[in-house]
Amino acid sequence: MVKDTKTKNILVVDDTETNIDVLLELLGNDYEILVATDGITALEILQEEEIDLVLLDIMMPIMDGFEVCQKMRQNPKTRDTPIIFITAKSDESSIEKAYTSGGNDYVTKPFKAVELLARIQTQLKVRELIYNLEQLASFDAMTGIYNRRKFFELAIEIFNTSKENLFAVMIDIDNFKLVNDTYGHPTGDKVIKILAKSISENLCENTIFGRIGGEEFAILCHQETREIVQQKIEQLRQNVEDLEVLSNNNNVIKFTISEGIAQADFDTKNIDMLLKNADEALYKAKESGRNKVIFH
Ligand SMILES: [Mg+2]
Repeated sequence: MVKDTKTKNILVVDDTETNIDVLLELLGNDYEILVATDGITALEILQEEEIDLVLLDIMMPIMDGFEVCQKMRQNPKTRDTPIIFITAKSDESSIEKAYTSGGNDYVTKPFKAVELLARIQTQLKVRELIYNLEQLASFDAMTGIYNRRKFFELAIEIFNTSKENLFAVMIDIDNFKLVNDTYGHPTGDKVIKILAKSISENLCENTIFGRIGGEEFAILCHQETREIVQQKIEQLRQNVEDLEVLSNNNNVIKFTISEGIAQADFDTKNIDMLLKNADEALYKAKESGRNKVIFH
């Protein structure tokens, strides 16, 4: 059978085989089921596989379900994975502990099949909605790259981690207003999209790239030397010179970008200051004829 790419992976963690068999029987047709009979194996599987939801027993030798749950919540990869406890323990303190250790839901054995299925579906749905909201809040709808909010959030984090050899680049499309006025906004949008794509495809690792305004983009990266940065950013400018966009009335449009670079140093107090310096360099690039890279 060809696996439906949308099939969700559920990890069943239980030390009793008959419990596992019951869940396999119940869920096996609708979900891809992975099984762990102890907590340590469960955490290993969670690290290696993409698991959408965990059904977690509480009473297990060596590592109980509460501990598995707590460890999952401490790991960025599994921090948001829905966890439903399935357990024979029905006392209030166990229920309370299940939630305080990070569980999303709690089902007592023996459970009703329809109820468990509904609870699984609810948790998967909630996770999907949260994921979609996070996407909307982080990525620019037109280009798919980071939006202004997310770019700044990540940039502050990076700056606070290490400003040594940290460079910011501000990028602006030259005469963009003219493109919009001449060919219309849909064509202007095409220009923005193709530029974002071109830059995205040519960035090095550990670089963040975002659209921070209409035709304004920013890059933040660590590099060993100014020369390397200069060369890489210059290459991005040259790549753009080779791009062609077909306007809505079938004119081939060429366009260029200007770029300003700034390096963080002892006096650079925060990310805003670094980006402001890059912006000043960008302004100089514009003032002195556009289609060029200027270092602050
Ligand atoms: Mg057990």
